[in-house]
Parts: sequence; C-alpha cells; structure tokens
Amino acid sequence: MYEIHAIRYGHLDRTATHNFIGGDPHDGPMPLDYYVWLIRGDAGTFLLDTGYDLATGTGRGRALVRPVEAGLAALGVDPASVRDIIVSHMHYDHVGNHDLFPLARYHVQDDEMAFCTGRPMCHAMMRAPFEARDVQAMVGKLFAGRVVFHDGESQLAPGITLHKVGGHTRGLQVVRVQTRRGWVVLASDAAHFYANWQQRRPFPIVDSVSAYLDAYLTIERLASSPAHIIPGHDPLVLARYPASLPGVPDIVRVDLEPVD
Ligand SMILES: [Zn+2]
Ligand SMILES: [Zn+2]
Repeated sequence: MYEIHAIRYGHLDRTATHNFIGGDPHDGPMPLDYYVWLIRGDAGTFLLDTGYDLATGTGRGRALVRPVEAGLAALGVDPASVRDIIVSHMHYDHVGNHDLFPLARYHVQDDEMAFCTGRPMCHAMMRAPFEARDVQAMVGKLFAGRVVFHDGESQLAPGITLHKVGGHTRGLQVVRVQTRRGWVVLASDAAHFYANWQQRRPFPIVDSVSAYLDAYLTIERLASSPAHIIPGHDPLVLARYPASLPGVPDIVRVDLEPVD
C-alpha cells in the first residue's frame, strides 16, 4: 500500500481551445497545473517526473508556483534520498531539474528515448515540447549507468507497475499504484484533463491519435474505477482530493477518497 501526493509546481493560464484537437467551441478559461507525484510506501519512495526549473518555465512563459525541491521538502523528502524516478515521457515539463537527484535511477521506456533522439525530432512540431538539454542530460545519465529501460509493461516494486501507452509521445508510460482505496492510475499526459479522457478529445500534442484514444481504454482497464484515474495537468485534482498538509492546498493525497 502506498500514499501518493500530487505536488503542484507550475501553472499556465489559457483557454480551452488550446487543450483539445480541433479546439473548443466554448473556449472559456481552462488553465493547466503542473505536477510531480510522490509515491511512498514500505517498498520505498518513488517520484513520477521531475518538473521544470525556473529558467525553463520562464523561457516558455510558464509560472513556477513552487520549485519542485520545495514541494518535496514540505513532505519531508530530501532529493538526495530519492533512488527511483519514473519518467512518464521526455517533455520539458516532466523531465527537468537534472541535477536535483544525484543518486536516482531514471526509469524510461525504450520507445521514448528512441523517439526523442531519433527521426521524429527532425520535425520542428514534434520537437517543440522537448528541451535539447533535457534529452542531453538523460543521455549523460545513461552513460553514468543511471537509466533503466522498460519495454511495455513492468513491475517496479510490489504494487507499482509501469505501462507504456504512447499516443501523446511514442513511449509515454502511465503508473498503476496499489493504495488503500484500490488501484490508482497516474495518467500523466495520457489525460491532461479529465475532459480529454472522459470526452475522448485528445490534447493537441500528438504522436498517434489512435494510440492516444487507445490509451484512454488502457487507463480505464488499469484503474479500480474512473475515480481512480488521476489526470496529469488538471487543476480539478487539487479541488477533488484532500490536502496532504494543513494550509497547503496544492499538495494533495490522491491515494485517499476524493472529497468532492
Ligand atoms: Zn507531454
Ligand atoms: Zn505535460
């Protein structure tokens, strides 16, 4: 059994039309939040994604609400104590802060490294959400013996499994975690918002639309119920789950029952 904390670190105000393939006819405000997820239990402490730092966020016009290291510190986590980091995919908002975790191994899908170091990056549209320095840093970690590759589905620890779904990027993986309320699926960018998944309207950064749609079926199959699926960028996650700490509304326990 694990506890899972969704730790917000960034924010972007924008409208709905930017969040769906084909836009949105209503186009009201639909901001994104940016999270990393801490998974903690008897088998150890695991981190899903590492966020972006101030320089990268500023360069892309994204607010850094709280540095990732500060969010972890609030939960009593020293970055040097993190031994396993799951990389959902290599986009800039999931794999920055390269030097923050000196002792961690990084768990990446084969297809994701091939995607971000290969032919698809010849296209400006495909490489836009990647930072070359993030990819270079991961290659450096590979040659330092700190990358663990996965292909498809694998178990990281008892009660924690990785599942490649693709769609958004070639090697996007989601994480299934055993909790007291059942199997929770951290969907990352397989579902930016509840609406992307529930309405079968993918986010407009895509490698394969059909794989993206299939990913919705996969996360539904892996989760104990639809209420066990945690989107990757939805501010509603903060509204629906109880705060991990008193007085800190943007770090929440998604292993507990929703409050809303
Ligand atoms: Zn992404
Ligand atoms: Zn993202």
